[in-house]
Amino acid sequence: MNSPARNAAKSPRSPGEEGIHAVYWQTSARRRPRPRLDAAAPKRVDVLIVGGGYTGLSAARALKAAAPGLRIAVVERRFVGYGASGRNSGFLTPLIGHDLASLRRRFGERVGKVLADVGRDAVRELIATIEGDAIDCDLEPSGLANPGFSPAHLRQVDRLCAAAEAFGIDHERWDATRTREELGVDWLRAAFYLRDGGILQPFKLAQGLAARAEAEGIEVFEESLVDDLELGPTVRARGPWGTIAADMCVIATNAYTRRPRGYRWHYAPIHVYSVVSAPLRPEQRAAIGGWPRRVGFYTLHHILYALRLTADNRILAATGDVRYFAGDRLHVGDRPRDYALLKNAITWMWPALADLEIEHRWEGVVGVTLSDLPSVGRHRRHANVVHALGYCGHGVALANHAGGLVRDLLLRRPGIHEELPFVRASPIPPVPPEPLRTPVAAAYLGVLRGLDALSDRHAPRWRRRPPRFGRG
Ligand SMILES: Cc1cc2nc3c(=O)[nH]c(=O)nc-3n(C[C@H](O)[C@H](O)[C@H](O)COP(=O)(O)OP(=O)(O)OC[C@H]3O[C@@H](n4cnc5c(N)ncnc54)[C@H](O)[C@@H]3O)c2cc1C
Repeated sequence: MNSPARNAAKSPRSPGEEGIHAVYWQTSARRRPRPRLDAAAPKRVDVLIVGGGYTGLSAARALKAAAPGLRIAVVERRFVGYGASGRNSGFLTPLIGHDLASLRRRFGERVGKVLADVGRDAVRELIATIEGDAIDCDLEPSGLANPGFSPAHLRQVDRLCAAAEAFGIDHERWDATRTREELGVDWLRAAFYLRDGGILQPFKLAQGLAARAEAEGIEVFEESLVDDLELGPTVRARGPWGTIAADMCVIATNAYTRRPRGYRWHYAPIHVYSVVSAPLRPEQRAAIGGWPRRVGFYTLHHILYALRLTADNRILAATGDVRYFAGDRLHVGDRPRDYALLKNAITWMWPALADLEIEHRWEGVVGVTLSDLPSVGRHRRHANVVHALGYCGHGVALANHAGGLVRDLLLRRPGIHEELPFVRASPIPPVPPEPLRTPVAAAYLGVLRGLDALSDRHAPRWRRRPPRFGRG
């Protein structure tokens, strides 16, 4: 039976995407325009992929490599890398789920290790892809640090090291001196460091993947909103441009996935804010100890602060707080308070940078599941429709890895997906719809903020920070 389904993200662009609110990554890299769907576009393809981010592009490439005869179209409503793939913080992280310690606690040694290995392999695969395909995306495989300062953070460093040890994941425990030498922050007390990780320019990565996909014979269409998906043995996608029929369909719209309705149970769109400073002058860089290996880091807060250098030596600060807006609203516009929190986070870490100007700020939407794991699987009634979404802010490597899982599900091939809890079953617990969603999100985020506030009382300079609690 056909199930008509609308899959539209209703607001096609943010109200504040210009000037200072333009995404730094998107304005500082070349964007190659691609054709729109129009009367001359194909009327039928073998595989239709909705969404031109890492998931859509990696699925297209994995399918094409496995079955070169397939005609595959990727259809993107704005441009390749418009969504999270072109506005994330660019941390190449092996994290899957909340962290290694929670994997061990929830899934035990065996399944926990399978998941930890997937995260690590996803990073290694992506590095191999970037290098093998010569994708210029400012990749720096410098690892990833998680520093902290409170007693709870120090216990967490111990738990992370123990889990990494148990899973055979390459890591280090940094004491306060090593953390200061690496990151230039003189009051952090320890850090957990993962060798499989790094930083990159996320939008350049998306553009590079799309260019490779096109070279391999995949058709990529931009400015082509799919606002109706009719599921069945033949999937029909409709938009202002007409209709395309496909034998198989991949839903790769992540936090923008509005329908088919069932997907609303899988994730909630959570808003994350980012700022990028002016380039550090040599004396500013020296004042923070040089940041010698340029290791990017996430703090050990539940709602973490993410900090890193860009290739042109600006500081990016992201997250610090997150928001949910009732009714899954996307793009709510300017959030001066959230941006101020991030500017302050830079000064909090490095008081010597008090006069550093912020030149860019933007919002992004993360697909968050209550299980902390992504959601990948076949549609429950239509096995020719596969989705992959909800990477909980850890999707740079994972969404690229998801392409292989999507391929195996669609082509019914055996593979690692058979062992992965987030592929085998629907997300447990599900994210309830409204009217429960708003209070559940408020309660969940409230608990995380409360735990972080307790930790922050141990920071020597905590009084300098803006209040973390706000409305929204
Ligand atoms: C601010 C921010 C910071 C992050 N930082 C990190 C990080 O440092 N490290 C990390 O590992 N992960 C990070 N993430 C998560 C990571 O970016 C995502 O998990 C990953 O990019 C998801 O890729 P995707 O292709 O599934 O989704 P997206 O990149 O969001 O792609 C979905 C695409 O679908 C398109 N689309 C939606 N609806 C339709 C429609 N109806 N018709 C056609 N097209 C449609 C959208 O325009 C969008 O381009 C971050 C995310 C955000 C938002």
